[in-house]
Amino acid sequence: MQIADRLKNLKPSATMELDAQAKAMVAAGEAVINLTAGEPDFSPPESILLATCQAALTGKTKYTQAKGQASLLQKVADFFNLQLDYGSSAKNVMVTSGGKVACFWPLFATINPGDEVIILTPYWTSYPAMVELCGGVPVFFDYKKLSAKDSNQYLLEKLITDKTKAIILNSPNNPAGYVFSPQDLAILEEIFTDKNIWLISDEIYANLVYGSNRHVSIASLNDQLKEKTVIINGASKAFAMTGYRIGFIWGNQWIIGKMAQIQSQVIGCPCSISQVAAEAALKKAKLEVEEMRKSYEHRLNTIIRPFFKQSGKKYFQPEGAFYVFFKLAEGTDCTIFCQDLLKKEKLALVPGQAFGYPGWVRLSYAASEQQLSEGLQRLKNFWIK
Ligand code: GLU
Repeated sequence: MQIADRLKNLKPSATMELDAQAKAMVAAGEAVINLTAGEPDFSPPESILLATCQAALTGKTKYTQAKGQASLLQKVADFFNLQLDYGSSAKNVMVTSGGKVACFWPLFATINPGDEVIILTPYWTSYPAMVELCGGVPVFFDYKKLSAKDSNQYLLEKLITDKTKAIILNSPNNPAGYVFSPQDLAILEEIFTDKNIWLISDEIYANLVYGSNRHVSIASLNDQLKEKTVIINGASKAFAMTGYRIGFIWGNQWIIGKMAQIQSQVIGCPCSISQVAAEAALKKAKLEVEEMRKSYEHRLNTIIRPFFKQSGKKYFQPEGAFYVFFKLAEGTDCTIFCQDLLKKEKLALVPGQAFGYPGWVRLSYAASEQQLSEGLQRLKNFWIK
């Protein structure tokens, strides 16, 4: 018996695996501080919890239409319009079972075997695996070189071949926390406006941006880009609804129609109760979302930034999402570093290897201030020893 060739490089998600390992240690009574997965420490706002219970009690327990129930689709379209004035209707959106599937469907809908997909490094750990599951070939390019040119052509543009089918963009970024600057967006606009290439733009952290930084979607730059961009968002991060598994996708009506067909064949529909809860989130939780955003920003400004500034370590300036991504001393193996840190100091972090950036480490600050302070003290102890 053999499994499919496309699974030959498949490994479990490093973030999910390390999170599960840390949670199992906590359950076994070990005093582990778990700053692995990007999972808000907040409960969903009360209006969402009430809607969840009412949905179950009032019989919202049946299949819905495959792409999500109509009332929710309208709210999702409004959500995208509110953020960036996309001028979209319910036909431009669909709801799916979490942000991960929302990333996977556009790849599955567009990639033929052997097609190349450009991924900017550092990347969220699941993108390369998703591309490979679709039979595609990931092609990596360092985000830090976005503005680099050779013979007057951007290095990124030089990577494009007749096999390039898509590029995955992720701003605000996981793991690096950067937000595309106006200059970054101008470069991407210059390269991709006239190309026959899909832009799969994971904007799951669009509502979590700090200081003077602003989230601008690549789709909003011009009509040609808008036509070939698929945007991913969802309920997990901004609304603290990770376990509900609700993702949103925005795109042109044709690609949305195709992905809805895939969904009707593979999933049926997203969880009906979660859909009711997501509708309540979009209608009623705006203030709480802003409160949670402010709380992440406070942790960033009062705990994370001062610590890393003082540490003398190299790190990406966190501008959005809720991660800080820092560099270890030259030659340090980040996987061994994280294993030793967990063993000796009981602090769980994710090695940069999982994000295509060996020698770096990701820390999630979606944790209480007390946990963060204690976690950073342990990191300092480990560095001093
Ligand atoms: N997206 C989060 C993270 O990067 C949650 C875990 C996952 O799905 O990868 O930690």
